[in-house]
Amino acid sequence: MKYYSLQHNSPEVDFKTATLLGQAPDKGLYFPREVPQWSKTFIDSIHTLPIEEMAYQVMAPYVGNTLPETVLRKIVTETLSFDIPLVKVTEDICSLELFHGPTLAFKDVGARFMSLCLGYFARDKKERVVVLVATSGDTGGAVANGFYEVPGVDVVILYPSGKVSPVQEKQLTTLGKNIHALEVLGNFDDCQRIVKTAFADTELTKNIFLTSANSINVARWLPQQLYYLLAWKQWPEKDFPPIISVPSGNFGNICAGLMAYRSGLPVAHFIAACNVNDVVPRYLKNEVYEPSRAIATLSNAMDVGDPSNFVRILELFGQSIPGLREMFSSVSITDSETEETIRKVFKNSGYILDPHGAVGYLALERYLSDHSTNKGIFLETAHPVKFPESVERITGNKIPVPEIVKPMMLAEKKSTLVPADYTSLKDFLLKFLS
Ligand SMILES: *Cc1c(COP(=O)(O)O)cnc(C)c1O
Repeated sequence: MKYYSLQHNSPEVDFKTATLLGQAPDKGLYFPREVPQWSKTFIDSIHTLPIEEMAYQVMAPYVGNTLPETVLRKIVTETLSFDIPLVKVTEDICSLELFHGPTLAFKDVGARFMSLCLGYFARDKKERVVVLVATSGDTGGAVANGFYEVPGVDVVILYPSGKVSPVQEKQLTTLGKNIHALEVLGNFDDCQRIVKTAFADTELTKNIFLTSANSINVARWLPQQLYYLLAWKQWPEKDFPPIISVPSGNFGNICAGLMAYRSGLPVAHFIAACNVNDVVPRYLKNEVYEPSRAIATLSNAMDVGDPSNFVRILELFGQSIPGLREMFSSVSITDSETEETIRKVFKNSGYILDPHGAVGYLALERYLSDHSTNKGIFLETAHPVKFPESVERITGNKIPVPEIVKPMMLAEKKSTLVPADYTSLKDFLLKFLS
């Protein structure tokens, strides 16, 4: 498989190069030359195939000959090493729980797949490979966990001191080994600025292969298709494909779902459920794309004012808005509607939604009430325990801490406190690399 840049000003590359670079030299996002077509036999076999075999068959064409079969099989097996159950919440609505991974959010799958691929590709690099991430909370944890103990790769995470939640901070700072946490005396924008300066510092990049491992990387984006196959595997009504509602911020997850649909997966309709950051819902209405500054909400992982993956969705539908509208709609949900949904669902069924899942739930419920014949699935993208301030206040109930994170909550925080300037990062990198 070859990947081209959506800016159309860079050479086509294979999966290995696209993964190592992240973004094309012309700053475009990489997009696969073809969308693989799945046979009816394959789709019918999904509900009986072992998950690892299914995942291998989906990912193999994207990876091409850049990974040996045995390596790819091992990578998909490690990537899907936790449960992704489909849980019934009401008669018509199921929750696909993507939060049973090590950092309790769906980003674990993409981050793990990417880090294992990158670890393999880094073996024949002469320079030291360093993944540099600025995080406002969630992404850093998933990336850190994905790269933990991957040989030949070091991860340096910059996070704003005092501005991430206690669970998130533990996720960033307790792993140790090849994961290094820099606690920056500043805000998230400072962290991002420092990281950007590092990428532009040729003196540094001469000696170190720096990569960003960010959410537009094809190795993070493409494996998210597997969620939708796992949903179908567990969907009881094979004659009535589900409506799928996806809490969306950067639109990577839903774009992967649309790829799976284009490959042949049965889905009746996709809903991109947004909070008040509504650039896509507005675009579908007026056909004008107007990015804006992100507004802070309860579902903070979706506070995105200019979603980077939306260009991939347009490409997938041949830039045709009418074509897109048939399969895809997008709605905006306010914080008070989110709260009301968490309260209502807990009261009626005892199910505890997190704020992101609640946005997905309400968007789905509204769609279903306008189209009375269908049933659907929303993606529950994070565990509610990651947002205890809001969820416990709204439900009036304490959320039990899942077993998988208990040891981490007891582990000791290890981080280096630094001022918000580039010199501190550079000194740190040069010191630990020498
Ligand atoms: C990142 C994230 C999202 C948004 O996913 P995108 O692929 O950026 O649209 C939704 N929910 C949670 C909990 C997240 O961490």
